Amino acid sequence: MPPLPEILSQLNDDMRANDTWGDVAAYIPELARVDPAQFAIAVTTDDGDVFTAGNADTAFSVQSITKVFTLAIALGRSGDQLWRRVGREPSGRAFNSIVQLEQESGRPRNPFINAGAIVTTDEILTGREPRDTLAEILQFVRAAAGDDNIHINHSVAASETAHGHRNFALAHFLASCGNLNNTPEKALGTYFHHCAIEMSVRQLAMAGRFLIETPKFPRMILPQRIRRLNALMLTCGHYDGSGDFAYRVGLPAKSGVGGGILAIVPGKASIAVWSPGLNRYGNSLKGTQAMASLARAMGWSIF
Ligand code: GLU
Repeated sequence: MPPLPEILSQLNDDMRANDTWGDVAAYIPELARVDPAQFAIAVTTDDGDVFTAGNADTAFSVQSITKVFTLAIALGRSGDQLWRRVGREPSGRAFNSIVQLEQESGRPRNPFINAGAIVTTDEILTGREPRDTLAEILQFVRAAAGDDNIHINHSVAASETAHGHRNFALAHFLASCGNLNNTPEKALGTYFHHCAIEMSVRQLAMAGRFLIETPKFPRMILPQRIRRLNALMLTCGHYDGSGDFAYRVGLPAKSGVGGGILAIVPGKASIAVWSPGLNRYGNSLKGTQAMASLARAMGWSIF
């Protein structure tokens, strides 16, 4: 097997050789302006080494990938009580589906679809102000990455606030079912802002280390919780494309509409990939291809 840096460099060349990049997320105007023809990948191993290829230091909007961090915080705060408000099953529906939430009386299927992440955010927000909640989320992400130079892009948050009609519909429906402790505006304001955190693939791969479960990295959450987060990433991390991603890649992972994907090789590595063009499920097109190639080349799979 060639060494990892060579594999990543070859992968970068392969991804750029083909001109089908997918479509950027159009429903958030700030994201619609991003050039889709970009690619970056970073791998952090359990030894603490980082290998990268492509635009590895370009910051991008991590969007739904923050749902992994907010879930870790919410479970740390509320424990199993959280599951009274949100389920743990794959949705088989689009990330922003409204119909399923109504059919299931306002209890979202899982914490990674939008409705579930709004509930998780609301749980962390309860009894506190959005500013303090966002500071805690940022602090967690920065500590995980070992990097204080990670910020929220306020233009992206404002853009989503102005155009996030579906998320407002979901939040108001949750409130009508008694499944929001805060006003929809407050819960969504916090949710849009944590989704607007920006990181490079290098920073994101570093931030993913807390999910590797290795004694070599300072423990941020309980080992049992790491396994459970990984289980949810595998079954629910790619919305209605989760089964396909598990089949092709075989690793727990979480995607975001900014075109990023964070994947974990338990006990071994954390991988971040970014390419802003999306496939029909709203997951990075080239990011998914690259994850599949890397997993194959390295023999990485949980199966
Ligand atoms: N902020 C985005 C939304 O709520 C996140 C979606 C995603 O990244 O998949 O629609």
